[in-house]
Amino acid sequence: MHSFALSRADDPAKAIAAHARDERLAFIAGGTDLLGLMKDRAALPERLLDINGLADMARIEALPDGGLRIGALARMSDVAANIDLRGRFPVIAESLLFAASGQLRNMASIGGNIMQRTRCAYFRDDDGPPCNKRRPGSGCSARYGRNRNHAIFGWSDACVATHPSDLAVALAALDANVVVLGLAGERLIPFTDFHRLPGSTPERDNMLGRGDLIVAIDVPPRVEGRASHYLKVRDRESYEFALVSAAAAVATDRRHLRSVRLAMGGIAHKPWRLAAAETALRGVSLDDIDALRSAIAESFIDVRPLDHNGFKVELAQRVALRALQTAGERA
Ligand SMILES: Cc1cc2nc3c(=O)[nH]c(=O)nc-3n(C[C@H](O)[C@H](O)[C@H](O)COP(=O)(O)OP(=O)(O)OC[C@H]3O[C@@H](n4cnc5c(N)ncnc54)[C@H](O)[C@@H]3O)c2cc1C
Ligand code: SF4
Repeated sequence: MHSFALSRADDPAKAIAAHARDERLAFIAGGTDLLGLMKDRAALPERLLDINGLADMARIEALPDGGLRIGALARMSDVAANIDLRGRFPVIAESLLFAASGQLRNMASIGGNIMQRTRCAYFRDDDGPPCNKRRPGSGCSARYGRNRNHAIFGWSDACVATHPSDLAVALAALDANVVVLGLAGERLIPFTDFHRLPGSTPERDNMLGRGDLIVAIDVPPRVEGRASHYLKVRDRESYEFALVSAAAAVATDRRHLRSVRLAMGGIAHKPWRLAAAETALRGVSLDDIDALRSAIAESFIDVRPLDHNGFKVELAQRVALRALQTAGERA
């Protein structure tokens, strides 16, 4: 195990300043991803700054506009059990409950969850196969290698990895905001802009820089939130990352879709919003399966499967349809 020094933060401003000036320092919350990365030698920080003592960052509270603020240090299990959130945003609670295991969810924080890194096996392999995310410029072993679990949208020749967080898919569907405290003060990053596509710099997963601390996630008061659902398909029933997943949230007029929010996981380097399908689904009856299917297909016109994951093209559309139908039944 890589050796490191551990200290504890008691003040956000000091924590941010330390992170900004020291490239070898990493924040640690639950440690459920970071310590694994360190064991795999995919992350080698020399100093860990434990942020769990920072005040107020574990709260879940109502916002004046009717939305909800989820503190970055709130634990996945606490958020999933929150009664207000379960009623207003079942898609968030479900995305958390389908993730990891009970023990992990008790430990893992919301901020750490959206910051977790890809599960691409080459990236996590400490034997060091070429991996641009791990060692920029070394190549991508998955591009023509084992890419069954990899992206079908938005990839580049430099990296074909997918983002593993289930929660991130639900938050993207609801247009949540990431509340970030940096050297220049607080800023909001729209969730759909938070994670990046790989392009030629796959070593960067998201828009955060040195000295940036996630303080909370703000979920706006979406009318579609109550009629929402998260559906996850994986190789085994529990304790497994998504092969393909979908977060759907809808508002209806009787059985007709008035507005739809649809995002998918397991298919791109970031949560993938089905914008064309959302538009095409407006006004469609939940009872017209063919029309629902062809509206969803609008978002798959430019799909680009790899050698071993062509099955995801059909699977993703079926998962999106089923998630949409379940959300519709809740409307
Ligand atoms: C076996 C296993 C199975 C899993 N299955 C799933 C699954 O099915 N679905 C799923 O979504 N996840 C799954 N996970 C991932 C798990 O949810 C994450 O490991 C966890 O959410 C990370 O949170 P943490 O608090 O432990 O983060 P840490 O490990 O402490 O930190 C992770 C990263 O986030 C950074 N960080 C943490 N907090 C902040 C902050 N406030 N601001 C800025 N940076 C921060 C750290 O510096 C680090 O880089 C699984 C993990 C394991 C080990
Ligand atoms: S897909 Fe990305 S993470 Fe996986 S080997 Fe290629 S560069 Fe590395």
